[in-house]
Amino acid sequence: MALQTTANIWHNGQLIPWDKAQIHVMSHVIHYGSSVFEGIRCYSQPNGAGVFRLPEHMARLIDSAKIYRMPLPYTVDQLCSAVVDVIEANGVAPCYIRPIAFRGYGEVGVNPLKSPIEVYIANFPWGKYVPGNDGADVCVSSWSRLAPNTMPSLAKAGANYMNSQLIRMEAEINGYSEGIALDVNGYLSEGSGENLFIVRGGVLYTTPLANSVLNGITRSSVITLAKQLGIEVVEQALPRELLYICDEAFFTGTAAEVTHLRSVDRILVGDGTMGPITTALHDEFFNIVNGLKPDRHNWLTPVNVKVGEPVAV
Ligand SMILES: *Cc1c(COP(=O)(O)O)cnc(C)c1O
Repeated sequence: MALQTTANIWHNGQLIPWDKAQIHVMSHVIHYGSSVFEGIRCYSQPNGAGVFRLPEHMARLIDSAKIYRMPLPYTVDQLCSAVVDVIEANGVAPCYIRPIAFRGYGEVGVNPLKSPIEVYIANFPWGKYVPGNDGADVCVSSWSRLAPNTMPSLAKAGANYMNSQLIRMEAEINGYSEGIALDVNGYLSEGSGENLFIVRGGVLYTTPLANSVLNGITRSSVITLAKQLGIEVVEQALPRELLYICDEAFFTGTAAEVTHLRSVDRILVGDGTMGPITTALHDEFFNIVNGLKPDRHNWLTPVNVKVGEPVAV
């Protein structure tokens, strides 16, 4: 864990030392899960480093906060500048960036409106992911994803991750690397922190936002890339068993990037290797973020840091 530290963390507009970024145990967030957050990657390219889709992540943070009546006193631009500042102050790239907003130390009680809003942005070294081509062995979870009108799936909220934790623990304890949750009606939803794609008959399918999934930024990037590669993309409710008879399947997410699924419930996906459509999308994604192809969508926000040796993950 020692690797996951840097000199500074951004707090409400100022850089403070890593060790000073502490909160009181009676803070609202600790008792009632009142936080929203982002996970963002800064990649290194041959001539520098750049943060992937930074404005989109910050707009989503503001949206997540808005759903929870947590007005953030910063604009998208200010939050983007804050990220650049903290990365440059820490001099760490490639890295992972974790902005978080929460209800802090105020009045103890369910109503969050009497507790102050705190915003922090941390980053820490996270190396270039060296994609293993083995793929992930996953299961369908016995836990469902959040039902509509219980917890808002479109908010990237800390409390939603209690559901994610149940999915992830069950999967790992049973020898899988991740679980895929069904939605409340039994249709495919997503992994504990990854969106799901399936390929069958040359068509790329993904679950729509109505099936209790997060509006993933990697998901939207892959949809854009697929359309440009001439791949038909269909967003529709997907039955569980499609996972067992599809040609290819993969996860997307800031952490997962593009990770192909080797098996689901011990049934091989295709022949278990990364199929051609997944490979094409995977390669296109990594070529752009690693600066091996032009950043034609302006997805990278440059940061001025000396790029370090890739850190193994
Ligand atoms: C963060 C997250 C994802 C992935 O979203 P990205 O924007 O691609 O990182 C998918 N599902 C859930 C539940 C998440 O919290």
